[in-house]
Amino acid sequence: MTDSDGRICWKCGTRYGNDVKLCVRCGVNLETGEMVRRHSDEDPFAATGVVGMLDRSVPGVMKPGLIALAAPLAVAGVVVLAAACGAFGMARYSSIGSIILLGVPGVALWGQATALILAGRFALLPTALGELDGLRWSLFFSSLIVEAMLVVGILRVA
Ligand SMILES: [Zn+2]
Repeated sequence: MTDSDGRICWKCGTRYGNDVKLCVRCGVNLETGEMVRRHSDEDPFAATGVVGMLDRSVPGVMKPGLIALAAPLAVAGVVVLAAACGAFGMARYSSIGSIILLGVPGVALWGQATALILAGRFALLPTALGELDGLRWSLFFSSLIVEAMLVVGILRVA
């Protein structure tokens, strides 16, 4: 290799061999001279706009496997909570005890379903909740309100 061989990064002036394609200091592509994004930069593959926001805040909506798991859990949660509140002809059995006994698992099932979608991976409720940030916490609580509204709807019909 002679002195004229090699590549020089236009940004920092570091000299590299011809086989080197990237200045590790600056992230300059030595073949094209373009700046290559570093890992710490925003993910170049991250979707932007509404889809990107959805992908970051509720990553599970992009994963059919998680939805297939969460959907029956959510339905079960609503049914159990509605039953606890005396829907489906169970009114005469409904008491504070039954509301607590069935209501807590009813909310937990729904919460687990929501947590799967918000965490974007399979994780049990306590673990998943530990991963949530502010926005997803508020989405989680909003989803509990949605469950309550669904149950109120069922109680009106039943
Ligand atoms: Zn450089």
